Amino acid sequence: MKNTFSPLITYPLLCLLLLLSNTLLAFPKNSLKPGGIAIIAASPAHLTAPNVRYHGKRVALVHGKTNWLGIVGIPLRAKTGRHFVNITDAKGKHYQRSFTVKTYPYRTQRLHISNTNKVNPNKRSRQRIARESAIKKRLRNVYSRTTPQLNFLIPVTGRRSSSFGVKRILNGEKRDPHSGMDIAAPQGRSIKATAKGKVLYVGNLFYTGKVVYLDHGQGVISLYAHMSKIMVKKGQQVKRGQVIGKVGRTGRVTGAHLHWSVYLNCTSVDPALFLR
Ligand SMILES: [Zn+2]
Repeated sequence: MKNTFSPLITYPLLCLLLLLSNTLLAFPKNSLKPGGIAIIAASPAHLTAPNVRYHGKRVALVHGKTNWLGIVGIPLRAKTGRHFVNITDAKGKHYQRSFTVKTYPYRTQRLHISNTNKVNPNKRSRQRIARESAIKKRLRNVYSRTTPQLNFLIPVTGRRSSSFGVKRILNGEKRDPHSGMDIAAPQGRSIKATAKGKVLYVGNLFYTGKVVYLDHGQGVISLYAHMSKIMVKKGQQVKRGQVIGKVGRTGRVTGAHLHWSVYLNCTSVDPALFLR
């Protein structure tokens, strides 16, 4: 039988298909540390997607070449040792997969915050913080059915001023470790959506200042804090790279920067693991 495909037509087509498959098959880096990501083969790719849970929370799934891959977020407070993921396949069969978390030498960072109420909040501020932490918890727990695209781009160009996971001493007092990546940039520089998604929340919170949450699907959420200006509305669909706001110094800051967080299965993970 005569081959009807011309190489001139098939080669660009092949390139396009490869490009598309690379975009769809972009995974974060597997990093088995507290605050890292475990990529686990959940079930064969030719079967219907399984239900994958870690600590009771739904895990994002990506259709890999041979397997459905669970993209598991490991909490920063996770203990070292073996961790289990619970899987239920389309036929209702239950089984587990495991991975081993190793220690990671997160550094300590000392910062001076001139607004002391942001370090030791007064009663009124503490009441506000309590209300807002309930909002933040609800946002981290959002799970939508959209398939996430994990080929993230860096939301703003600038110097990486603080990494995820560093232990923080603010004005000489121990505080929670850093839940995102800080990128120092001039006030007013454009902040872009790291991937396509839906605007889950816009607001002005005590610690984050002007903030945008994007829902990328299946519990993959990104957060952009300390903005001077928000340029999107709740419920709006945004494209990868679309400008969502401007760099600022609102909330608890030492200077103008973007704080960028990424959540998987309700836990913040190292955003650097999503960058190529
Ligand atoms: Zn930060």
